[in-house]
Amino acid sequence: MYKIFCHSERRVLNGNLKYIAGKVASGVDKLELINKEVRLMHKGGPYGTHRVIEPKGLLPQPAWKIDNRMEIYDNEVLIDVDVLNIDSASFTQIEEEAAGDEARIAEKIMSIVAERGKMHNPVTGSGGMLIGRVAQIGPALEGKSPLKVGQRLATLVSLSLTPLQIDRIKKIHKEIDQVEIEGKAILFESGIYAVLPDDLPDTLSLAVLDVAGAAAQTAKLVRPGDSVVVIGAGGKSGLLCLHEARKRAGITGKVIGIAPREASKKRAESTGYCDAVILADATDAMTVMEKVKEVNGGRLADVTINCVNIPHTELASILATRDGGTVYFFSMATSFTAAALGAEGVGKDVTMIVGNGYTRGHAAISLQIMRESPVLRKIFEELYV
Ligand code: NAP
Repeated sequence: MYKIFCHSERRVLNGNLKYIAGKVASGVDKLELINKEVRLMHKGGPYGTHRVIEPKGLLPQPAWKIDNRMEIYDNEVLIDVDVLNIDSASFTQIEEEAAGDEARIAEKIMSIVAERGKMHNPVTGSGGMLIGRVAQIGPALEGKSPLKVGQRLATLVSLSLTPLQIDRIKKIHKEIDQVEIEGKAILFESGIYAVLPDDLPDTLSLAVLDVAGAAAQTAKLVRPGDSVVVIGAGGKSGLLCLHEARKRAGITGKVIGIAPREASKKRAESTGYCDAVILADATDAMTVMEKVKEVNGGRLADVTINCVNIPHTELASILATRDGGTVYFFSMATSFTAAALGAEGVGKDVTMIVGNGYTRGHAAISLQIMRESPVLRKIFEELYV
């Protein structure tokens, strides 16, 4: 119990810290401590700008360093983190740099978080997301947020902007880019999240939610009768896109997958969603273009979705697409310069879309695929559970 004199109300408040913090949030401007030390919660901005250390003025995502102290501001949510899902482009880069050595991968992750206050890979610029349990909710969110302490959630904002503290790395799952940790994270007021569904295993939901934007964008872009090329078709986002492309293009449309190895080609074929799966390296743009024409009656694609985790595949995506068509670059290894100058260089008039990880309803759409498609559910369970 604390006793505090509140100047604006001209009276002594008796109450616990939560009550007093609530008073501060509701506009009480000056409090005077009477018999105990009280740490007042600071007001935070909705986008987390109050946590940016350098460069000042930027938002947390593009900032180099953010404040990852785990005392929450009045409008933040504190999360006890269990698992990080490192973005595939980021994990692949770290794994390569560490020559596959788990201890070195762990060291690299710890050092990035220590240096930047967030898991923001400085080479790829990408992050990932996390699952955990709500540990504390700022008083300013009372009545605004439906979240409850103890609830399990997955954040749908990138780790590249999420204040994170890792106490210990417990286990690295290299094959699925997931890292079990003991640690904490902060969700800003504007941060989107999904409460984890009861009917799907957590690691499966985490894998699906990590790439939720891809399938939901595919649903928006593909029209009945379209021919659709999915590059990286045997990967996590690629498989979800195949499902959505088939559903939207219908029987008059064509779905063509591209995979670089037999294993991922077979995986894409086993979904039954593809009219053809091409075995090709997407850094070889001319071959990709020729093979797409070969299986598509001499025509190029109306829509191409790029879901790879390596650089230098922009031109394969552009050349595989007809003039007036659309290329959706979901891959985080995409270079804006390579795409823009590449398209100009080959005189290709295509609409190119940056892979916004968020589309309205993306979490629900992607999780629903796991319920609708037994074949994808089986593949994802084998890979991620
Ligand atoms: P993933 O499961 O690792 O899949 C990547 C796929 O790319 C794999 O199937 C891989 O084939 C294929 N691939 C690799 N090299 C290739 C090549 N030379 N030619 C053709 N295909 C190739 O990755 P993911 O989780 O789906 O993520 C895909 C991309 O989306 C990554 O770049 C990731 O960073 C990005 N991402 C974007 C957002 C966003 O908000 N825009 C969010 C999350 C992730 P193999 O299996 O045979 O190696």
